[in-house]
Amino acid sequence: MAEQGIDVHLFEAAPKAGGRTRSFYEGKVDCLCDNGPHLLVGAYQTTQKLMQDCGISHHIHWQSSLHLPLWESQRGSFSFKPTTWLPFNLALLKAVGELPGHDQTSPLAMVKLATTLKSDMDDSCTVQEWMQQLSMPNQLIHDLIEPLCLGAMNESMDTACASSFRRVLHESFSSHKQARLGWFTKPLDQALIDPLCERAQQLGVKLHTRTCVRSLQEIEDSIQIAGQSFQHVILALPAYATDRLLNRPTSCETRAICNIHLWFEQEVHLPSLLIGSLGTTGQWFFDVSSQMHDQSKLRHLCAVISADQSKLDDLTLVQIIRDEIRAITSLYALTPVHYRIVREKRATVLVRHDHDEQVLPQAVIDASERSKPGDLPATIEWAVQRGENAANSCLDRLKR
Ligand SMILES: Cc1cc2nc3c(=O)[nH]c(=O)nc-3n(C[C@H](O)[C@H](O)[C@H](O)COP(=O)(O)OP(=O)(O)OC[C@H]3O[C@@H](n4cnc5c(N)ncnc54)[C@H](O)[C@@H]3O)c2cc1C
Repeated sequence: MAEQGIDVHLFEAAPKAGGRTRSFYEGKVDCLCDNGPHLLVGAYQTTQKLMQDCGISHHIHWQSSLHLPLWESQRGSFSFKPTTWLPFNLALLKAVGELPGHDQTSPLAMVKLATTLKSDMDDSCTVQEWMQQLSMPNQLIHDLIEPLCLGAMNESMDTACASSFRRVLHESFSSHKQARLGWFTKPLDQALIDPLCERAQQLGVKLHTRTCVRSLQEIEDSIQIAGQSFQHVILALPAYATDRLLNRPTSCETRAICNIHLWFEQEVHLPSLLIGSLGTTGQWFFDVSSQMHDQSKLRHLCAVISADQSKLDDLTLVQIIRDEIRAITSLYALTPVHYRIVREKRATVLVRHDHDEQVLPQAVIDASERSKPGDLPATIEWAVQRGENAANSCLDRLKR
């Protein structure tokens, strides 16, 4: 909008922009730390375009093709790695068949899954029901479907919306390029938020931090915010925050994500920069120091628990995660010199078919995180797409 010469003001309640993609300074270990590691997939086209436009694409490291390292106590380290010399769909089948403990039923089940990616689906169907309809083998659910569902939807299979998960699979598993994983090579503040704010300010956007918008006062055709009058307002908040702002009860469900950051003086390296761990409390382990090419003395690892509903106290959790890292790395003695647990209680708003339809003041455009079945789940890509769609509809209204 600012590129089109529109006068744009951005109101942010926190002292800094960033929201759920934010970093904080961890003084004890003198480092900028993300609330949690953020993974991207090649299918995040809108995010990549935004980063290109701002000249910061190089802040993401992209795998050359999909490589999903996995670990389980019985089977040790293994990988889901579709070979690049085959077309992606064939490579996928080959890779599934080569997973340890799988037989020909797994590739056959993948073929069946692929055939249903475009067919109609009931909005209330869960991922678990979908998998039951497909008679998906338990081993394939355990090794791939369940971890992917938790990672992408931040929700377990028994309640996660099948049609949105299907969209994630359809968009991501469509080519080698779309399926690969990417991660930021700097803390989120430096990789994404600061450059985006700088770019916005260069374009003339006025950024008002520490400004919590508590009400939208309608006066004739405009809306009053912080003593100023605006012709149009875009709400780019999680649904519960929008509901609070509009002073109405919220019914939207959320799930937590728990991030356990550990710092070690020892030279501890995971078998790969990220690893999906099966049957453990930590579901994903990130070698943050290696991802960020950090040469400092301390090694920073982070374990992630999606859809976290555990009530473990901090010390117990740290011990469990430390023991799981010991098992993954085969290191006998391992003691973190520092830890920080970030529990994002409302990390994502879940995909639901019964999200209330909004009755909004004429001047307000809703870009809230409120995914319906078939929409993308709450991700960076969905946030960027929602923002872009809202900006386009605002521009359309201005042209009228
Ligand atoms: C721990 C964690 C890990 C994640 N991992 C991934 C991942 O690997 N990949 C991925 O794609 N996505 C991931 N996500 C999801 C992703 O971070 C979010 O979906 C995305 O950042 C949402 O962006 P948003 O701009 O919609 O909302 P937010 O980032 O929540 O931004 C909303 C902003 O509005 C501000 N605000 C709220 N109320 C008011 C008010 N009344 N007035 C003014 N300002 C207000 C808030 O302070 C905030 O800055 C993760 C999220 C978390 C929490």
